[in-house]
Amino acid sequence: MTTKWVIANWKMNHLRAEASAFCEAFRADYKARPGVEAGIAPSFPLLPGVISQTETTGAKVFGQNAHWEPKGAFTGAVSMAQLKDAGCHGVILGHSERRQFFNETDDSLVKKLQAAWEFDLLPVLCIGETLTQRDAGFTLDVLRQQLSVLERTGHGPLVVAYEPVWAIGTGRRADATQIEEVHAFIREDLWLTFGDAGREIPILYGGSVTPDNFEEILRIPHVAGGLVGGASLEAGKFLRLLKQAQESN
Ligand code: PEP
Repeated sequence: MTTKWVIANWKMNHLRAEASAFCEAFRADYKARPGVEAGIAPSFPLLPGVISQTETTGAKVFGQNAHWEPKGAFTGAVSMAQLKDAGCHGVILGHSERRQFFNETDDSLVKKLQAAWEFDLLPVLCIGETLTQRDAGFTLDVLRQQLSVLERTGHGPLVVAYEPVWAIGTGRRADATQIEEVHAFIREDLWLTFGDAGREIPILYGGSVTPDNFEEILRIPHVAGGLVGGASLEAGKFLRLLKQAQESN
């Protein structure tokens, strides 16, 4: 049985009252089962509330980004040490919105991955091509380039999320053939970089996942769950996705 992940990426959404209502509904309904991991990535001010409200559920809380330095004069930044201290289990790194709007680079990702491992956080490394890159036939080259940061980091616990940029928040998900081709490519690449350990790294799909398409996505080889934005903002939908992940095992 492969462990399946469903990670909610709330992005810059929810105020405390909404996050609290989500956690209440989640806590009332969620039954943790072996083989499935629930993750929630709220924005920084919501972390303490979400962590304390979901403590008993087994859900793992993630930051959405962090700086590589443990502390210092970096106004506006949050460190891996601070995420760990707050009670986070891991951190999302390299999300396309960070690459697109905040100049995230491969060089910064190398330092962030190493810092995450130093502070015992599980990184979820996001990779994905734009529509222009896909239409030009460069999808696998782009992914290869993005994965090459892992040749410079050393090795630690890792989750990879394939998120085609054109599928994020658009309602247009990648089809089964596209997901299958890319996930097989990522698996091979991880194997070439890490040897047998590369076979065990979970590869999630992200991009307009909903309870209406998740069952099909979960059946695709090398898909170990989903990184979910829009559909993860409502507890009811997040719970349905988790149930689908449990039933897929
Ligand atoms: C995401 O933000 O990682 C994401 C996949 O968003 P959505 O599910 O809304 O496409």
